[in-house]
Amino acid sequence: MAKQRVPAIEGWFEHEGEARLLGSRCGGCGTVFFPKESAFCRNPSCEGGEMEEVPLSNRGRLWSFTNNCYPPPQPYVAADPFVPYAVAAVELEAEKMVVLGQVVPGVGVEELEAGMEMELVTDTLFEDDDNEYLVWKWRPASAHGAAA
Ligand SMILES: [Zn+2]
Repeated sequence: MAKQRVPAIEGWFEHEGEARLLGSRCGGCGTVFFPKESAFCRNPSCEGGEMEEVPLSNRGRLWSFTNNCYPPPQPYVAADPFVPYAVAAVELEAEKMVVLGQVVPGVGVEELEAGMEMELVTDTLFEDDDNEYLVWKWRPASAHGAAA
């Protein structure tokens, strides 16, 4: 029986079709926030404006990475049993903001290099009897090319 694929955290990313992080853009100053900022603009020189949900770049440059040997903080949910994985900080192509994410299983830190192009995918974070819970992850863009 096929399990339902549901986001592990609601409202942070699109998982139907192309993987996209969802941020918010301030109508006053144009600043983009991720995670979404729905209440008010955090730009101190902004007089405020309507927050609009916007999909963010799903590609970027690898800025930094590490091997995570400990269960992650919220809002991530650790797989049980916990399996170490690589974590990437990727600077989004258009927004130039850095977004952390797990690296897809099977890609270790030894395959990562600062400056390489990464792309966003959605992948299973954990599952139970009924559902697969999805989260965004990064993978090297060159490994899969345009066929992805
Ligand atoms: Zn603003």
